[in-house]
Amino acid sequence: MLRNALARVKDGPFEIEHLTRLDDGLSRLQKGDVDIVLTDLTLADSAGIATFDQLYASVPHIPIMTLSAAEDEPLAIEAVARGSQGYLSKGHFSSYLVPQSLRNIIQRKAVEESMFIEKARAEITLNSISDAVIGTDMAGNVDYLNAAAEAMTGWPRAEARGRSIGEIMPLIQNGTRQHKANPVELVLQQNEPISLTPGSLLLRRDGSEAAIEDSAAPIHDSGGHIRGAVIVFHDISAAKAMAAKMTHLAQHDFLTNLPNRVLLNDRIAQAIIQAERSGTQLAVLFLDLDNFKHINDSLGHAIGDKLLQSVAQRLRACVRGYDTVSRQGGDEFVILLSEGNNVEYAALTADKILVTLAQPHSVDGHELHVTTSIGISAYPADAKTAESLIKNADTAMYQAKEKGRNNYQFFKNDMNTHAVERQAIESHLRRALERHELILHYQPKVNLKTGEITGAEALLRWNHPQSGLMLPDRFIAIAEDCGLIVSIGRWVLREACKQAKRWKDEGLTPGSIAVNISALEFRRKDFVDEVRAILAETGLLASCLQLEITESVLMRDVGCSTKVLQQLKNMGVQLAIDDFGTGYSSLSYLHQFPIDILKIDQSFVQDIATATGNGIIVSAVIAMGNSLKQKVIAEGVEKHVQLAYLKGQHCEEGQGYLFSRPLAPEQFAALLGAGIARTVYN
Ligand code: C2E
Ligand code: MG
Ligand code: MG
Repeated sequence: MLRNALARVKDGPFEIEHLTRLDDGLSRLQKGDVDIVLTDLTLADSAGIATFDQLYASVPHIPIMTLSAAEDEPLAIEAVARGSQGYLSKGHFSSYLVPQSLRNIIQRKAVEESMFIEKARAEITLNSISDAVIGTDMAGNVDYLNAAAEAMTGWPRAEARGRSIGEIMPLIQNGTRQHKANPVELVLQQNEPISLTPGSLLLRRDGSEAAIEDSAAPIHDSGGHIRGAVIVFHDISAAKAMAAKMTHLAQHDFLTNLPNRVLLNDRIAQAIIQAERSGTQLAVLFLDLDNFKHINDSLGHAIGDKLLQSVAQRLRACVRGYDTVSRQGGDEFVILLSEGNNVEYAALTADKILVTLAQPHSVDGHELHVTTSIGISAYPADAKTAESLIKNADTAMYQAKEKGRNNYQFFKNDMNTHAVERQAIESHLRRALERHELILHYQPKVNLKTGEITGAEALLRWNHPQSGLMLPDRFIAIAEDCGLIVSIGRWVLREACKQAKRWKDEGLTPGSIAVNISALEFRRKDFVDEVRAILAETGLLASCLQLEITESVLMRDVGCSTKVLQQLKNMGVQLAIDDFGTGYSSLSYLHQFPIDILKIDQSFVQDIATATGNGIIVSAVIAMGNSLKQKVIAEGVEKHVQLAYLKGQHCEEGQGYLFSRPLAPEQFAALLGAGIARTVYN
């Protein structure tokens, strides 16, 4: 009967397979390609509801209908309760409704199945994303939470369901800490999506807080009517913390944690606006440590860094909370004194800084002494913008350096000419070499016992077309700053060697010629080769060349210095430490260097027989030199009393105005012929 019913179908017949045993049915179903199962609950090998249960368990996704006799209807109904799609009453199969309802059932099951898959997919997706998602009904009661929302709020889905969104997701405003309406409530009222309410803090179930960013939207049914709302949010605490950190890093100095240039400029600009409004003044202090480079070079960067941190700390303590202490880089600091300051206050502060910084800094067991030079410029008198205030303070700072360091100077308008001059020197210096404006003067080194000239120190002079003869103090530092010292130094070395050789060839005995070497030259990889090449080129004996290097240059990288010194030594060149006593040397290292000569700095020599000094350092250095088998040369000998003292201490050699000022080559040649006057000695 069924076959007949299903064959008479307009839109194509059903393909029917007929089996009589449950076993056969189950194995057929395993092969697939079945749209619907019609089953009698009394089969050859099975009977009753168990028959249905087994079929259903094996193919839950395929619709199953039972065939039932009128008296078996309760059984058929039970099968429906257990998942059957319905039943056909035996004897009514001929109805044209049978094929139609089978088709409906097949289709409905297919739709159900795809909806199930879609729902499962949505569920997995929602639980996999890191954004929290909460759904509510029209009353604002929660009906869904994804895994992220459970974690963020601290409410498990089962407990949250049915509670109001305000209870599950209470919000307060960052800052005011006032309760905030949940965006879902607004969405339900207005039936429109709402995005991003800034500054929201979520109160978790455990009382902790999280900064969140959120957006909410209504859910509509197929008729377009609002049925509820969904809110999506995520934790931005980490992102906020990171953003805050980045901002801090961008505005602060890494080493000292002081505001950097960027933040300082901003603060000055703000302070200017304020001062303009209130008709008050403000001051900018530019600081540069006086002997930082020495310390950094001799004791290393790690100690230099700690010293800068110590300086930063003391500077902070010298100003009020609303003043800004910033680090410009290197050993330069800028301080903004804001809020209605008068000039006296700037001077007071500068004084305080000079005193405070001059106290010894204890760093890694070293007692370090630094002083500082300070330049001050004021708004509105000296400049109107942050940039020019700093620039003018910088210019005034240079003036403080020139005035002997460890002092402060207020900016004056004519100081700018100074800065301009420095600039001019640099640009002229670049051409000085080509234009043959550089010359060497020679100052004799004298044997203190015999009065004989033992050699000369070559000292650089600049025959400046406008300014006349310029001494190295005015341009060597500039040449070092801009790197020109390397080519200048090379020229000096070659010229001095050439000159010495020439004198020898003329039958004079100039002795050894000393050349000053600056840090930049000494550190160059090709320095040793350069010296060797120049000696070869000029034909001067290596033993007739002395190289003068300062302590701090040698101490900078002891390993490297030792290597370079040893190479020079092997070549036969003599090595001298210049300005001995002014740097931070470690005596144990000094002892390792293959040094021939110590040149006692002139400041110690000038200390001999004065009211405050007694030449004690000079004697100590001489004694040390003697025991280390190093020759000691006293620099800056100007007076007889100094000479007498040095002779008494058995200092071997001396150099100074007492014997001769540095001389042009032809004058020096004449002096070589004549010798140092007897009167100087007796
Ligand atoms: P320095 O190497 O210590 O040279 C000694 C300085 O003391 C010279 O100054 C010299 O003129 C000066 N002097 C000599 N005797 C006396 C004296 O009795 N009393 C006083 N008050 N001063 C005396 P100068 O020529 O002005 O050179 C200054 C510094 O410039 C030198 O100090 C040296 O460090 C540097 N320098 C000079 N020439 C060169 C050079 O060719 N290359 C490099 N890198 N530096 C140089
Ligand atoms: Mg020298
Ligand atoms: Mg010297």
